[in-house]
Amino acid sequence: MPKMLSRRNFLKILTGLGALLIPWTVLPRLEKMGSLVPRPPVKFINASNLDKDGPGEDEFPMPPAEVLARKALADIEALSHPDKEGRRAGTAGETRALVYLEEQLKLLNLQPFGADNYWQMFSIPAMQEKIINGRALFRPDEADPLLSPAGNILAVLPGQDADAYVIISAHYDHLGIYNGKLYPGANDNASGVGCILQVLRSLVRDYCQGIRPKYNIVAAFWGAEEMGFLGSKYFVSHPLFPLAGLKAVINYDTVGNGEREDFILWQVGDSWLKDIMQEAAEKNQARLELNYGGGHQSDEAAFRGTSVPAVTMLSKNWLEKNHTPEDDLSLINPEKLETACSILYTALKKIVY
Ligand SMILES: [Zn+2]
Repeated sequence: MPKMLSRRNFLKILTGLGALLIPWTVLPRLEKMGSLVPRPPVKFINASNLDKDGPGEDEFPMPPAEVLARKALADIEALSHPDKEGRRAGTAGETRALVYLEEQLKLLNLQPFGADNYWQMFSIPAMQEKIINGRALFRPDEADPLLSPAGNILAVLPGQDADAYVIISAHYDHLGIYNGKLYPGANDNASGVGCILQVLRSLVRDYCQGIRPKYNIVAAFWGAEEMGFLGSKYFVSHPLFPLAGLKAVINYDTVGNGEREDFILWQVGDSWLKDIMQEAAEKNQARLELNYGGGHQSDEAAFRGTSVPAVTMLSKNWLEKNHTPEDDLSLINPEKLETACSILYTALKKIVY
């Protein structure tokens, strides 16, 4: 004799049917809600996808006048501020500096060119600080196997030839806090970063007025330079486009102190790029002496072993208070920053316009 359906079993069947039905009734509504969720404001653009004629006017609107008028000195102030804690690679201070740079690039409507939006992350080994000849330096800490994340940040101003590139760069990291003392790194190398940003602002203004570069201009802010050019070396071993298309690298490091007109240049190999830089300096009533670094080098060194011409421009007396807590805003000569910016702008006009 068939069992009568008990009240409890009847309720179980109802609940089961409900569970089956609910997804079908709710799903269309969820889809509708999905279309209301805002999409990310930036899109990743691969070099190979760049429009040969550059993006249209509405994809690259003219940034507000106050954004374009911002000067290197304002960036130096922001980056050497105690809230950036000396921008030591692998620390929260470094991340705050990265976020600041990302904001500046977004304000200029520049397209991200990192592996992950504007960022290219890599890992760094543990380091120990040491004072050698009065300067704080990092040495790898062999006893500590811990790796930390650090990052480069990259953006691109599209050129007419999608396969050709020029990099303008500066390292943004510094030494952090050591023995309770903040190393603000205003000259080393917030000054170089500020100059690259100021020149970018001029190039974006030109771009929006229809003056477009022949080659893609990539702005690269390297991380972990103070630990042995780790960011630029990582880029060279993990390039975001074929390095065969890279025509030149112009790097700025510690450009803000001393006499307005005195600069030096370090280079890997010997190339036409040195001549263009020296001509550009002359046009701006400045002197740019070729110098062999005396055992020092900067991110140009990462391009040794490639066939890419790479140079770093510095102040002639860049070692003044370098890698000490006294490398602060008082060391910066605003006229010198203007000269450094004009030299880069003049050189780029010759190379890519
Ligand atoms: Zn340094």
